[in-house]
Amino acid sequence: MTTYWRAHEVEKIVEKLVPEHHEHLARTDVTIRCVFRDTAAKSRGWIVLGKARKVSGLAAHLVGLVRKDDLGDDPADFFVIEVPHEPWVNLTQEQRIALVDHELCHFWVALPDDPDEPRRLVILGHDLEEFKAIVERHGLWKPDVKSFAKAASQQLSIDDLEPGEVFNRIAPVDES
Ligand SMILES: [Zn+2]
Repeated sequence: MTTYWRAHEVEKIVEKLVPEHHEHLARTDVTIRCVFRDTAAKSRGWIVLGKARKVSGLAAHLVGLVRKDDLGDDPADFFVIEVPHEPWVNLTQEQRIALVDHELCHFWVALPDDPDEPRRLVILGHDLEEFKAIVERHGLWKPDVKSFAKAASQQLSIDDLEPGEVFNRIAPVDES
C-alpha cells in the first residue's frame, strides 16, 4: 500500500510560484495540498515525477467535515500535487521548481457566469501531445507543434547543439 505524507518543501515552492505565474489560482479561494508518496508510479516506461489531481464530490466533502465540523456551503473541493519522494530527492532545485510549475499548469478554476453557481475545478491537459518520431518525419506539421518548438528553440543556445546541428541551423533551409 502506498503511504502519503505532507510535502512542506513542495508547498513552499507552490507558495512562491502561484503569485508569480499562476495568478488565476491566487485570485480564488482554492486550496492546493501537496503530498509525498513513498512509491513512484511508471507510465510508458518512465517514472512519474508528479501528478496533479483534484479532489471533489463526496471525498472532498468528507475531508472538509473532518477539518471543520460545520462546512456550511463552502466549496469543499481542492487540488492536490502528488510527488513520489524518491525521484524528488534526486532532482536539482531548478528541476523541482520546474516540476511544481508544471503541475500548477494543470490547475484551472472555472468561474460560473452566475455568481450563485459554484466554481468548478478543472485539470487541464498538456499544451502538446506528440511523438518525437512524427516531428522527425513530418516536421512542425501543425500550429501547436510549431509554437512548442518555437518556445523550446528559444531555450537552446549554440553551445547545446552538436557541430553538425549548428551547421544545419544556420544553413539555408530548402522548404520544398
Ligand atoms: Zn503534466
